[in-house]
Amino acid sequence: MRSDPLGYLTTELEALKQQGLYRTLRVLEGEQKAKTTFDHRQVVNLSSNNYLGLTTHPLLRERALEATRRLGVGSGSVRSIAGTMDIHMELERRLAVFKNTEAVVVFQSGFAANAGTVAAVLSKDDVVISDELNHASIIDGCRLSRAAIKVFPHKDAAAARRIVAELPAAQRKLLITDGVFSMDGDLGALPALCDIAEEFGCIMMVDDAHASGVFGRNGRGTIDHFSMHGRVDIQVGTLSKAIGALGGYVAGSRALVEFLYHRARPFLFSTSHPPAVAAACIAALDVLEQEPQIIERLWENTRFFKSGLQTLGFNTGLSESPITPVIVGDGALAMKLSDRLFQEGVFAQGIAFPTVARDKARVRTIVTATHTRDELQFALDVFAKVGRELSIL
Ligand code: PMP
Repeated sequence: MRSDPLGYLTTELEALKQQGLYRTLRVLEGEQKAKTTFDHRQVVNLSSNNYLGLTTHPLLRERALEATRRLGVGSGSVRSIAGTMDIHMELERRLAVFKNTEAVVVFQSGFAANAGTVAAVLSKDDVVISDELNHASIIDGCRLSRAAIKVFPHKDAAAARRIVAELPAAQRKLLITDGVFSMDGDLGALPALCDIAEEFGCIMMVDDAHASGVFGRNGRGTIDHFSMHGRVDIQVGTLSKAIGALGGYVAGSRALVEFLYHRARPFLFSTSHPPAVAAACIAALDVLEQEPQIIERLWENTRFFKSGLQTLGFNTGLSESPITPVIVGDGALAMKLSDRLFQEGVFAQGIAFPTVARDKARVRTIVTATHTRDELQFALDVFAKVGRELSIL
C-alpha cells in the first residue's frame, strides 16, 4: 500500500494538540450579529469585524437582492476581460469621492488588494520598509514582489527613518503601515511616517482595513482622522469588515489605478464580485453618509467596554480602537480563557503564535455599534468571573 505522503501534516496537528493550540472552527448558526448562536450556544459575539452591524442592515439586504434579481448572481469573468459591470464602476466612483482620491480600484478582498498591489508596484531592485506587525497580506505581497524587505519595530518611526536614511537615494522605496493594527487595536505611526516618506521620496502606503467605516469623518479612515489627505500615495481599505459585505480597494491616483488594471494579479486573474456585493457596498456608503450616529454608537460602546476591562485589571495593551486585546502571555492559557468564556456565553477568539508573538498570546475582543449595554455588561461580568478562576486577575 502507498504510504501517506501528507503524513507529516497529522504529526504537526498532533503537536498543536499537545501544546493546547489545536482549534476547531466555530460555526455560526444564523446571522452575523452582536448576540447570536455559534456551535448551538447563544453567545455575546465579541469576535466579528461587523463593526457597524451592516451585515444585516435592511438597506444593504434590499439592494443586494434587487441587484441579484436584475443582474444575476455572478459576473462571469475577471475584470480585465468581460467581468467589469457598470455596478462595479459605480462602486469605484463612489469610493473615490468618499476617500477624496482621483480613483479607486476594487479587489475581491482586502487581502487581494494588499498582496496584489505591493507585488505589482515593486520589483526585485526595490525595497520595502514595513512595520513588524503589519498584516499577513502585506507580508505576502512584499515576498511576492521580490523586493528587499526591511522591518522596523512596531510604530518606531525613528527606527524606520534610520533604515530609510541608509538606503541609496536612487533606490525605489515603499514605506508601509497598517492604519489600525488588527491584533492590538492601536494606530500606525502615520504622521511621522508620512514626514519620512516626504523627506526621502518614499512611496507611502497605508492598509486601513480596520479603519474603514470606523475612523475619520463618516468612517473615511485614518488618513482623514489624521488630516493627511494628499500625503499617502496608496490607501487600501476593506469592504469586508465595517462595510459589511466583501472586498478590498485601493484608493490613489488615476495612474496608480490604471497601472493596477494592467499588473495586479488578483485583478487580472480572479473573477470579480457578484453584483449583489457591489450593490451592498454602495448601500453601505449611503448608510455611512445618512446614519453617522451608528459610528458614534460604536465609539460609545468601545469606551464603555474598554474601560470596563481595564477597571477589572486586565492587560489591554495600547488599543485605541474597537479592537481590545486581553493579553495573557501564554498561548495555552489564552485558548483556555477563550474556551471558558465561550462556555459562559461570550465568544472572544484566542490568538496565539504565529499570529502574535509567543509571549503575547491573547483573547481579542471587538465591540460593535449593535451591542446593547446589557450585553456588554454581561460580557464584562463573565470576563471577571473567568479571569479570577484562571488566576489572570
Ligand atoms: N488588512 C488587515 C489589517 C486585516 O486585518 C485584514 C483582515 N483580516 C485584511 C487586511 C484583509 O481584509 P479582507 O478580510 O477583506 O481580505
